[in-house]
Amino acid sequence: MKPLRQSGPNVSAIIICMLVMVLTASSVTAADLQNVYQMPLNSHIEFLEDPSTNRDLSSVRHRDDWQQQGEGAFNQGYSDSAWWLRFTLTNDADTGIERLLSLEYPVLGDVQVHVVSDRNDRQFHQLGHNYPYNQRPVDHRFFVIPLEWQPGETLSVYMRVRSQTSVQVPATLWERDTFRSHDMTANILQGIYFGAFLVIAVYNLLLYFALGERNYLYYVGFVMSMALLMASLTGYGFRHLWPGATVWNDQAILVFISGILGFAGLFIRRFLELSRISVMLDRLALAFVVVSAVCVVLAFYLSYFTLIAVLIPLVVAGCIFAFLGGIYAWGQGQATAKYFVMAWTFILAGGSILALSKGGVLPSNFFTDHAAQLGSMIEVVLLSFALAQRINVERQLRYQAQSETLETARRLNRELEERVQERTQELEKLNEKLNELSVTDELTGLRNRRFLDQQLEQEVGRAWRSGSSLAVAMLDIDHFKPVNDTYGHQVGDACLRMVGEILRGSLRSPSDTGARYGGEEFALILPDTDCEEALAVVERVRARIHATRVESDGVVLELTLSAGVTAHPVNESVTPDQFLVEADEALYRAKETGRNRVCAYGDQAQS
Ligand code: GH3
Ligand code: MG
Ligand code: MG
Repeated sequence: MKPLRQSGPNVSAIIICMLVMVLTASSVTAADLQNVYQMPLNSHIEFLEDPSTNRDLSSVRHRDDWQQQGEGAFNQGYSDSAWWLRFTLTNDADTGIERLLSLEYPVLGDVQVHVVSDRNDRQFHQLGHNYPYNQRPVDHRFFVIPLEWQPGETLSVYMRVRSQTSVQVPATLWERDTFRSHDMTANILQGIYFGAFLVIAVYNLLLYFALGERNYLYYVGFVMSMALLMASLTGYGFRHLWPGATVWNDQAILVFISGILGFAGLFIRRFLELSRISVMLDRLALAFVVVSAVCVVLAFYLSYFTLIAVLIPLVVAGCIFAFLGGIYAWGQGQATAKYFVMAWTFILAGGSILALSKGGVLPSNFFTDHAAQLGSMIEVVLLSFALAQRINVERQLRYQAQSETLETARRLNRELEERVQERTQELEKLNEKLNELSVTDELTGLRNRRFLDQQLEQEVGRAWRSGSSLAVAMLDIDHFKPVNDTYGHQVGDACLRMVGEILRGSLRSPSDTGARYGGEEFALILPDTDCEEALAVVERVRARIHATRVESDGVVLELTLSAGVTAHPVNESVTPDQFLVEADEALYRAKETGRNRVCAYGDQAQS
């Protein structure tokens, strides 16, 4: 005798009930039945396999090979056979009793329930996933059958179950109010679950519209597939969404599992940027997407039984793939991959716990029964967080790239500016040099005629403004032609260079100007200088040249020169040319009067 799990407000009743149970045989007594509020029927159930699937109640009823079900829920896994289950309960009380029988696995395809009374009054109910919802005796997502006992009546309930889904029949006997309050709690919890999924899906859909990032759409597909699969498995889908669609009931599970697989594949490829980190992983994810798309189509052509055998291993492989892919991406330095890995850890753990409890390794309780739902919810929330985190990381990267670009642009600008400045300075120097060259006589290093003309004009203007005296001298080497003719141009040039050197050494810098006027003629501009001073300067030059010997090509030469000087203040009638004409005239006189001398304009020649 197995102890009954009972719940109810009356403690003494429970104690009496337990005593009675210990003392009596396997069928439930009247006192038991009256005090049943929530009683799992597993240990009361006997079962029989019908591989031929064509036996009816009368042919199985009296067979002697019924087997006793243990404490756990009846579970035969995937099976082609029809399975018969039965239990018998007697009401020994003086009053009638009403209880609800609920079979809490809502995806069973074909469930026939025969209620046989010892008073030969039979009832029959056709239930199942493959029959319209409105045929059910009680409006509920589970298969619920009301049972009524007259005083002293014994009811035997025979259930024939055939399903392409796994054949599981968790059966519970309920007192009506207990059932209702229990159901309300379950509905609230399930409502929270589906509500959360709906909110997450809508929110991410809005994010997709706002951001245009396709991954949000894949994620919405994934979340909705997951929610709809859970709605199918929990019976809410059939009850609220498609109560007449009995064929679709089986297909829905296949389509939504494929949807989860496909959308997860699309999502993972993009989220983990698989094409960037591993071509092999990327192709594998793509393969999952393609296979799941094929499965969606096949769901409408193949039997549930066939396709689910393909899909379950695929889903397990997909979960492991996502989990390992996440770890790999994490190892490759993707910061957001760690939330991704956590998310898949929860769904893997949830799925494993469910599988282990169904396999009998873990006990069946509220937590293990809902582990997959709980795991999927945590997963979906964590993935949402990972997606948000991803935006954050991308925004930071974009910001970083922008500021790097800006910094590069600034640096390039700076470098360009520096180069331009360098070039400008070089050009300025070159220009200065060119200017210098354009006003310099190449042979003597003195200023040339052009510079002299400009300078004279400026100095005349300045002298006019200041009222000071301006002096100009013209110098000409004596008998220079014979030097050239006798010793050649080389020697002539050496003489010219010597004169240039002496002139440069004799002038006040930078106010005075010494220039080669042309050939062997030179000119001096001496600002702020009167005639006497000018004569002194030029005379000193003449004396030095006379005293200097030119040595070139083994020849030693003595040179002399003649000079004419003019000096006076400037008024508006005085032109620059006038100074040159006057100095030239004085020079002419110096030549006339014997050379090697300096003459002042208008004066007697001086030696
Ligand atoms: P005077 O005493 O009358 O000035 O006699 P001169 O021979 O110096 O006069 P003239 O003007 O006839 O001769 C000038 C000579 O100067 C002509 C030319 O041979 C020489 N000469 C002019 N320019 C250059 C030059 O650039 N280099 C050289 N080596 N000789 C030059
Ligand atoms: Mg001359
Ligand atoms: Mg001469």
